[in-house]
Amino acid sequence: MPKENDHFLETLFSLKGKNALVTGGGAGLGRIFSLALARAGANLAVVDMNEESLKSTAAEIKALGSDALPLVANVTLPEQVADMSKIAVEHFGKIDILVNNAGINKTAPAEVFKVEDWQLVIGVNLTGVFLCSQAVGKYMIQRKYGKIINISSMHGIVASSLHDAVAYNSAKAGVINLTKSLAVEWAKYNINVNTIAPGMIETALTRQRVEDPEYRKKVFEKTPIARLGQPDDLIGALIYLASPASDWVTGAAIVVDGGYVAC
Ligand code: NAD
Repeated sequence: MPKENDHFLETLFSLKGKNALVTGGGAGLGRIFSLALARAGANLAVVDMNEESLKSTAAEIKALGSDALPLVANVTLPEQVADMSKIAVEHFGKIDILVNNAGINKTAPAEVFKVEDWQLVIGVNLTGVFLCSQAVGKYMIQRKYGKIINISSMHGIVASSLHDAVAYNSAKAGVINLTKSLAVEWAKYNINVNTIAPGMIETALTRQRVEDPEYRKKVFEKTPIARLGQPDDLIGALIYLASPASDWVTGAAIVVDGGYVAC
């Protein structure tokens, strides 16, 4: 805990000297998260399947003065996850912060939802979080320090009544209890594991739906702070969970949704 006269807030939320690994960091929220962590002082290993977007995010991070290591990997493949974790640790010496952000969605009524799509969505959104936590967690356990931030969704708390997403909702609910399980097991290693559960935010994942005026209207009717979220709305929660400010917080889900799940 920083001393009273020691730039209190700056130190409390500072990530200077820290190294972070963000999955799905090439685009969307992962890109915004990576840039925000860099602005707070961290160096970044950015992981994605899309090499082009990775390169451009890495260039943006470097322009902010932080080191950036782009790594192509699929979070559902244990060998690739082990390799990218090893390369990141070899490059930076340590990983202090892991943001499990990579995610996908497939929508269809539950009665006709294809098992291949179920496996795909659960694979990326839940198994991927487990595999990356396990691979990076091993290095964190050795050093007895780590902050793991899993990106769930408000649809991990309430099922969506606006679109049919049985696998997504189930995976995101799983992420919330995976977070609690890891938090309980790894507290002894000084590893904090928490989740952010965002509401509806305009990115490639949601664009098609939120561009429909009828859909937007329905979302706003269910959201007390009646607007779409912007990626920047999540930055406060992210930096809080990545920094010393949250040292006694573990197993928590911070919901950032304009009040959607409150009613
Ligand atoms: P996005 O589609 O814009 O970006 C996702 C990124 O993850 C892409 O760069 C993609 O290449 C990468 N990715 C996908 N599968 C991968 C895999 N197997 N391995 C590695 N990388 C992979 O999505 P987004 O809106 O930025 O969502 C990011 C996270 O936030 C997801 O977990 C999503 O479920 C969650 N979320 C988003 C919203 C929203 O409204 N946008 C709301 C709640 C939760």
